[in-house]
Amino acid sequence: MGLLSEGVAWEEVERQATDLLSRYIRFDTTNPPGNEAEAAQFLAQTLSDEGIDSHLYEPAPGRANLVARLSAAEPVAPPLLLMHHIDVVPADGATWTRPPFHGLVREGHIWGRGALDDKGLGVIHLMALVLLKRLDVKLTRDIVFMAVSDEEEGGAFGAQWMIEKHWPDIECEYVWDEGGTGSVGMMGRRPIFAVSVWEKRSMLLKLTARGLGGHGSIAGNTPLDRLVRALHAVQGYSTDMRFNGVTREFFERISRDQGFIAGWLMRHAETPVVKGYMARQIKNISSIHAMLRDTITATVLSTGDKPNVVDEQVEATLDVRLLPDTDRDAFLDSIRRAINDDAIELEATGSPKSGPPSPVDSELFRALSQAIYANEPAALVTPMQTPYATDSRFFRERGVAAYGLLPVVLTGEELASIHGVDERMSVKSLTSGIKIALDAVGTLCS
Ligand SMILES: [Zn+2]
Repeated sequence: MGLLSEGVAWEEVERQATDLLSRYIRFDTTNPPGNEAEAAQFLAQTLSDEGIDSHLYEPAPGRANLVARLSAAEPVAPPLLLMHHIDVVPADGATWTRPPFHGLVREGHIWGRGALDDKGLGVIHLMALVLLKRLDVKLTRDIVFMAVSDEEEGGAFGAQWMIEKHWPDIECEYVWDEGGTGSVGMMGRRPIFAVSVWEKRSMLLKLTARGLGGHGSIAGNTPLDRLVRALHAVQGYSTDMRFNGVTREFFERISRDQGFIAGWLMRHAETPVVKGYMARQIKNISSIHAMLRDTITATVLSTGDKPNVVDEQVEATLDVRLLPDTDRDAFLDSIRRAINDDAIELEATGSPKSGPPSPVDSELFRALSQAIYANEPAALVTPMQTPYATDSRFFRERGVAAYGLLPVVLTGEELASIHGVDERMSVKSLTSGIKIALDAVGTLCS
């Protein structure tokens, strides 16, 4: 059987997709506040022009989620959900070489905040849906397209809200969401497509030091002194490099594209002799380093602002990312022991329980792999664990298998533009992403 992507006039699709992404970027959906409603209406109109109905939900004024469905006449399996988020993180135009909300198409790229995270994935999903409809593919399961608000601020108005309030509208067997991506030139020579199947959990840890305030001329054990000592202790606290089924599989697959020695080291990264050496090597590759450890990053300090006054209360906030299988309470106990000061109060918020990892031997993972290998024969596909949280966690908590992938190959520079400056997607990538999506969804759903 030929692939669906072989029967498509790609030049025309490329023009349409480029225009769509460019216009989608022009809706400033910076979150906070989000303001996703107009962008959601734009998606609804685009779908409607293609003869696909959709429904808009309003979780709060100005916010919106959208759901559209391509129905199978006689479904033999539960639906696939294609999900992306409409909101974006802030962009400071002064530091960009192109304006972040103009959707300029220049030098073969579509420029703007959201081009990769996550409007690009939205356009890829949407075009795959449109093509399946145009090609009149006989579906064996429904395909649900969902665009949500609020991912960048935790998802309370977006994915989480939809699951709590409208589960029957989006009930599914598989979710295709953001999370991983293809990349080249970072590890080995081949393009690596890392599909996220699990993720770390985020927790905020507030340290508060209280004590006697007073005049700055009185030296002593002030609250700020104690807080600094506590932060110092936390900085010196070293978390263990730990593997699980997902990261083990990631290392095993990546090792196939390494030289003999590097590959061997990766496959033996957990053995006592190699572990320390590998930990030092990995330290310089921040994304891999963060994949294998609980991380603690100090992000906010709130102290007094008068140089000659000792404050009675000072605080620090730590952004903690726990591995999915870290025991939260045991972790907090060990931090308390490291600080070893009863005057320091610890308050942790967040870090929900993690659902199980999504299986690598599922139909969707196989369909994705097959579509990637068909369109990018040199590629290497691997499961991965993302160091940050996405909306996928809400589905995994419910026992639904969720996979995170922007199906395009990014350079290191392009990757750095996510949540950074000059975010952009190449027109070529956009088109090849749609090919992969069309083939993967076609394989799974027809
Ligand atoms: Zn995102």
